[in-house]
Amino acid sequence: MRMRRFEFSSPSSLTEGLALIGQYKERAKVIAGGTDLLVQMKSKIVNPERVISLLNVPELSGLKKNGKGLRVGALAKHALLESAPEVKEGWGILAEAAHKVGSPQIRNLGTVGGNLCNASPAADTAPALLVLEAEAVLVSQKGKRRIPLEAFFSGPGMTVMEKDEILQEIFIPQVPANSVWTYLKLGRRKSLDLALVSTAVLLIQDSQSGICQRARVALGAVSPTPMRAKETEEFLRGKELNESILRRAGEIAMKECRPIADIRASAEYRQEMVKVLLGRAIQKSMGIPIPPTGI
Ligand SMILES: Cc1cc2nc3c(=O)[nH]c(=O)nc-3n(C[C@H](O)[C@H](O)[C@H](O)COP(=O)(O)OP(=O)(O)OC[C@H]3O[C@@H](n4cnc5c(N)ncnc54)[C@H](O)[C@@H]3O)c2cc1C
Repeated sequence: MRMRRFEFSSPSSLTEGLALIGQYKERAKVIAGGTDLLVQMKSKIVNPERVISLLNVPELSGLKKNGKGLRVGALAKHALLESAPEVKEGWGILAEAAHKVGSPQIRNLGTVGGNLCNASPAADTAPALLVLEAEAVLVSQKGKRRIPLEAFFSGPGMTVMEKDEILQEIFIPQVPANSVWTYLKLGRRKSLDLALVSTAVLLIQDSQSGICQRARVALGAVSPTPMRAKETEEFLRGKELNESILRRAGEIAMKECRPIADIRASAEYRQEMVKVLLGRAIQKSMGIPIPPTGI
C-alpha cells in the first residue's frame, strides 16, 4: 500500500508548530509516533496535504509531578508510562493500562496523546484516565483551554479539538486516599489486539469498614466513545461489595453501555463481558484473586 504524496514539517517549538497547524488546518495532520496515523494514510482513510511532526516540540514532552497531580506531556510514550516510578506509585492504573497497549515495539513508538486524539472507543489509556478524572490541556494560537477528559471524545475517531488545536498535555489530579483500582482488558489474543471490552475501576473505600464510599467505573469498546458508567457508580456508592452487589452492578453496567456488533464480537457478547469484567475488576481491586482474565 502506497501513501499519497505529502509535504512534511518538523517544527522545533510549540510556537512554530501552532503557526503551521493554524496555517494548514484541515489540510494538515499532526503526527506523533505514527502507529495509528500511518496505517490510516496507507489505507487512504486520511490523506493530508502536510504532515506536521510533533516529536521535536519540547513543550509536549515529559512527566512532571507536583502537589496537585501529574502533568503528562502528550508525547509521553506508553513504554514510559508503564515503567516510570512516579506513574507506578501515584497513578498505577495508568501504568497498568499503558502496559496493555499493543506490544513492546508499539509501546516504544505510540504516545498517550496519539492514543487519546485517535479517539478509538477501544483506546487502552482512555478508561484509566477517565477514572483518574484527568483533564486534557488543548492549545492553539488563540491560547489554552482545559477540558475534563470525559468531555473530550465526541464519537468514534472524533474529539472536541478544533482544527487548529493540539493536545499539549494531560493533567491527572492526585488519587484520593484509600483508593484501590484495576484495569482489565479482554481481547482475542494475548498481545497486539485491541480490546473487545475493557474496564477501569477505582474504588474509594472506608478504611475501617471497607464499605465503598465512592466508585469510579469506565468502560472501553462498548459505546461510541470510552465512557464513565455513572449509574453503576451511583449504585456502588455506600455498598458493601459482596457477590450479589457485584452481580447487580454488572447488570446495571450492561444496560448502561451501547456496544456494536462487528467482525470481532457481537453486541450481546460484549455486554455479557462487561458484567464479567466489572465484577472481576472490583474483586481484583479489593485483593480477591480472580481467574486469568483477558490480555
Ligand atoms: C500493531 C498495532 C497494535 C496496536 N495495539 C493497540 C492496543 O493494544 N491498544 C491501543 O489502545 N492502541 C493500540 N494501537 C493503536 C496505537 O498504537 C495507539 O493508539 C497509539 O497510542 C497512538 O499513538 P501515536 O503517537 O502513534 O499516534 P499517531 O499515529 O501519531 O497519531 C494518532 C492520531 O492522533 C493525532 N495526534 C497525535 N498526537 C496529537 C496531539 N498531541 N495533538 C493532537 N492530535 C494528535 C494524529 O493527528 C492522529 O490523528 C495499535 C496500533 C498498531 C499499529
